[in-house]
Amino acid sequence: MSTLTLPDAPPPAPAEHKPTTAGNYFVSNYPPFSFWRPEHLPELQAALRRPPAPDTPLGLYLHIPFCRKRCHFCYYKVYTDKDSAAIRGYLEAALRELAFYAAQPLIGGRKAQFVYFGGGTPSYLSVDQLRHLTDGMKALLPWDAAEEVTFECEPGTLTDHKLKAIRDLGVTRLSLGVEHFDDHILEINGRAHHSKEIARAYEYARSLDFPQINIDLIAGMVEETTERWQECVRRTIALAPDSVTIYQMEIPYNTTIYKEMKAAGKLVAPVADWETKRGWVDYAFAQLEQAGYSVASAYTAVRNPARTRFVYRDRLWAGADLLSLGVASFGHLGGTHYQNHQDFEPYVAAVQQGQSPAFRALTPTAEERLIREFVLQLKLGHVRASYFQEKFGVDPRARFAQPLQTLRDWGFLTVAADRLELNREGLLQVDRLLHEFFLPQHRNVRFV
Ligand code: SF4
Repeated sequence: MSTLTLPDAPPPAPAEHKPTTAGNYFVSNYPPFSFWRPEHLPELQAALRRPPAPDTPLGLYLHIPFCRKRCHFCYYKVYTDKDSAAIRGYLEAALRELAFYAAQPLIGGRKAQFVYFGGGTPSYLSVDQLRHLTDGMKALLPWDAAEEVTFECEPGTLTDHKLKAIRDLGVTRLSLGVEHFDDHILEINGRAHHSKEIARAYEYARSLDFPQINIDLIAGMVEETTERWQECVRRTIALAPDSVTIYQMEIPYNTTIYKEMKAAGKLVAPVADWETKRGWVDYAFAQLEQAGYSVASAYTAVRNPARTRFVYRDRLWAGADLLSLGVASFGHLGGTHYQNHQDFEPYVAAVQQGQSPAFRALTPTAEERLIREFVLQLKLGHVRASYFQEKFGVDPRARFAQPLQTLRDWGFLTVAADRLELNREGLLQVDRLLHEFFLPQHRNVRFV
């Protein structure tokens, strides 16, 4: 049984029907990015000079920051105006950046155990650009031991020829940014693709035997309704993807929607409130479960849990090294977090001068590393206390007694011996609840 200490007074219950206001909801790392600073960059340089800690897996991430159009809800660093010369320059910079890292004691001689092409839109690149890029990457840091190679795609950029080339590059997990199947919703939210392009790309990808095809959806896009969402879920299940990832619409500050809200003096975004969005994800999970899927995290359902893994997520949330390349990328090497320059020109210029393009960093303390892994793994819906005892020498049931009790009082969590488990209601709002586990100075700060 757990060793929980009761707080003096019960905490207030979570608010119902909270409107969607501007700001980040999704917790992707810890401590928050606003605590990463340029003055910590020497810690990254020192980490690169050390040999890797034994048994630490290495992942490789590359940010491809090009898109055909900027979606109105997008908060990523993307460009819609770069010509082929600029794209070529960017890919050369990414290869040069990888060469810089491959020459460091921390990375040299290691093989990537997982690889992730994210964006932006990696599938925006031409087949020739993709081949040139990946041949160069493999020569610098071999992928032959990789358990998973993920590639994010926007359906409208995929031709049969390109999909075949992506499969031939060694991609094992194709992630399709579908977001919705309703053309009006796609259009009004600024997506570049239409529903007929989804069907065509999906069908051909299936024929190429990708080991895993994931479909991304967003619950709560502008003008979403219960009927439209139910139809979106029905069409998703009809395709029978290996996994489905569903995000709840958030409106970070650097989105077009936020800029329009600000110009109109509005505080509430023109999308459903959080309870409604959670209800839509709840509905989707229930339908997917009825169709034989299992819920594997706060955002994902998988068709065959024995076969369908998500190595990138699981390794990252267990403290793997992540060598992140490209503009604005977030990485974690030798115990230090870092982020690259957030704009194209300074990123390319730094690499061309033979310098690391990282612009801010932070080395989490042992306690912050514990919190980081605990909160990230809680997004899976359950954690084992013994994992943290073995890895950090800390019993999370004692260390987090107060926040765990808070989540129990709210009816979201059970603790049974080694297993701490969120129920579905808790899982669907986990990102909001995770702040309870943060150190006081990190609670409810902006994640930018
Ligand atoms: S496709 Fe993705 S990365 Fe590109 S603008 Fe839309 S949301 Fe942003």
